Amino acid sequence: MKTQNLVVVHELYPALVEALSDAFNLTHFTRLVDDQDRAAFEEAMAQADAYLGSNVAFTEALLDKAPRLKVVASVSVGVDSYPIEAMRERGIVLTNTPDVLTESTADTGFLLLMMAARRAGEMLRKVRDHEWTASLSREDFGVDVHGKTLGIVGMGRIGQAVARRGHDGFGMSVNYTNRSAKPEVEAALDARRVDLETLFRESDFICVTVPLSAETEGLIGREHFALTRPHAVFVNISRGKVVREDELVACLQDGTLHCAGLDVYEREPLSTASPLMTLDNAVCLPHIGSSTFQTRNAMCDLAVDNVKRVLAGEGAITAV
Ligand code: NAP
Repeated sequence: MKTQNLVVVHELYPALVEALSDAFNLTHFTRLVDDQDRAAFEEAMAQADAYLGSNVAFTEALLDKAPRLKVVASVSVGVDSYPIEAMRERGIVLTNTPDVLTESTADTGFLLLMMAARRAGEMLRKVRDHEWTASLSREDFGVDVHGKTLGIVGMGRIGQAVARRGHDGFGMSVNYTNRSAKPEVEAALDARRVDLETLFRESDFICVTVPLSAETEGLIGREHFALTRPHAVFVNISRGKVVREDELVACLQDGTLHCAGLDVYEREPLSTASPLMTLDNAVCLPHIGSSTFQTRNAMCDLAVDNVKRVLAGEGAITAV
């Protein structure tokens, strides 16, 4: 007899849906598309012992409607969409999925860095639009990655994985900013801890991997882009709101910043009216950070294990 109610808002692999249906009274939404979905979701949350998912903005009002809720298992490492303090007060355990997504997300960072450096998006369009009619001119050239300087904003798990790719694979020098010093990273990657302004001034590639929080919201803007080198590449794989997007757009438009590679935006999905859609010097991906089959499955498995452990009265594996 199943006694525990689980609400999922996430796309799961089929065998996991089956396993969860066997273990719980499962209410499963792949995603919440419209008001009708949202209403059905809130109705299910009224009886939920556990929630597992991502991309649902939690509010205190929602928590008030979910009196049985004991665990919220986010299928993400970033937890900026949860009212953490209010959850703590209600005794609701919040868990996330660190580590298992680090390497795939770092791959996305390096993919954007390479695409922006070599203008891969623009060149792809050229081929598709039948504009590759002669050998390339200097106007189409990109910049080298190997041997350049990589600046990491937020030298955590993902930041370190990006830095390792640059240092070990491309012979890059590494600058970083971080709340605390990382002596082990400095030793392993010969990395130099600098302030944010120095990082923007003295790096060829800048990659943002800091979490979104009250301290980091709007952290980066025009005053930083104004310091960049002539061919600097700016990459954001953390959260859109860490960057003042209107200023980023203006700096890409007026040439203050050479180019950008972006996986995340202030508002997602990116509006079709966004100037980022049409700027040649912006490479925009649709938040693909961790979205590989292997990594997403591992994230779901970890989230499920967290749910089971908390409901069994054991400690979560990865509590926030
Ligand atoms: P992490 O290991 O916690 O690393 C975050 C790093 O940022 C830590 O080293 C931390 O410093 C530093 N930091 C935090 N607040 C700071 C501040 N105010 N000033 C300076 N440094 C600060 O996290 P992670 O696993 O690398 O993930 C980082 C973020 O990437 C996530 O929060 C998420 O938003 C984003 N992400 C995006 C995708 C995607 O799909 N694009 C996928 C996964 C993750 P301390 O060590 O001193 O605490």
